[in-house]
Amino acid sequence: MPGQMDVRESGEENETRIEAHPEQAFGPDPLEVRDSDHYTNEYVTGFVEKWDELIDWKKRYESEGKFFVDLLKSRGVKSVLDVATGTGFHSVRLIEEGFDTVSVDGSAEMLTKAFENGLSYGGHILRVVHADWRWLNRDVHGQFDAVVCLGNSFTHLFSERDRRKALAEFYAVLKHDGILILDQRNYDAILDNGYSSKHTYYYCGDQVTAEPEYVDEGLARFRYRFPDESQYHLNMFPLRKDYVRRLLREVGFQRVETYGDFQETFTADDPDFLIHVAEKQ
Ligand code: SAM
Repeated sequence: MPGQMDVRESGEENETRIEAHPEQAFGPDPLEVRDSDHYTNEYVTGFVEKWDELIDWKKRYESEGKFFVDLLKSRGVKSVLDVATGTGFHSVRLIEEGFDTVSVDGSAEMLTKAFENGLSYGGHILRVVHADWRWLNRDVHGQFDAVVCLGNSFTHLFSERDRRKALAEFYAVLKHDGILILDQRNYDAILDNGYSSKHTYYYCGDQVTAEPEYVDEGLARFRYRFPDESQYHLNMFPLRKDYVRRLLREVGFQRVETYGDFQETFTADDPDFLIHVAEKQ
C-alpha cells in the first residue's frame, strides 16, 4: 500500500512485531498505540538502563560536536530549559558549558536516572522538574533564553492539538528574544522512499541498532536491538519537516531555520536528523 511500509522481513510475519518487550505495555496490537500519553510506558527501566550502559556519552559528545553549545553561545544564551532531559545527556553537557540549566521530563524514572547521571558525570546537581510539556507552565516558573527539545523527543506527541499545546508552552516559557531548538528524525525520507529507505541506525558503534519496523503517515514504530538479543520499541509520530516548520510559525515563532545533520545546506533525503531553530522574535 503506498505510504505504508512494513519492514519486517518476510518469513518473520508478525513475529518481530509481537516480540515487543512485555514491560512496555503495548497491548495486543502495538500498531494501534498512537497516544501522546504512552511515552511513560515505553521508557521502562530495562530499556533506559541498557541504552545508557551501551551508549558511550563521550562518543556521543564527539559525534554531536559543539553544534548546540556554539549555537547557544552565539545567541548570547545564558539560561536553558531542557524539556526532554531523558537520562540527562544534554543537561549535563549544558551545565558543563556554564549554562544555567533546568531539566524537565514527563517521566519520573528518566529524571531519577538523569539526577544519578549528573552526580556520576562530574558531581553536578541537576535542577529537575517533573512536568509534561502540555502543562509545562503549571510547573516551571521563570523565563529562559532557550528551550531545547532534543534526541527526537517531540515525535512522542500524536495529535496536532498536543503538538500545538506543547509548542505554545515552550513559547511562553521563553524570554521575548528567546530561541527554541527542536530536533527530529528525517521522517520525510523514510515515508517517501518506502522500502528503499530501510536503514539501520547504529548508535556509537554497533552495540545498539534502531530500525523502522513499521511506518505509515500516522505511526513510525522503531525497534531497538541490544547485544544480549533483547529488543524494545518506541511508537512515534512521523513528523514531516515542513509541517513542523509551519506549526512553529503558527504558534508565534517569527523565524525558523532548519539544519540537516548539523549543516545549513542539505539535500532533502540525505540527513538522518533535522534540527529546527525557532526565534521568538
Ligand atoms: N534528550 C534526551 C537524549 O537525547 O538523550 C532524551 C530523549 S528521549 C528520546 C525523549 C524524552 O522525552 C523521554 O525522556 C520522555 O520521557 C520525554 N517526553 C516524551 N513526551 C513527553 C511529554 N509530553 N512531556 C514531557 N516529557 C516527554
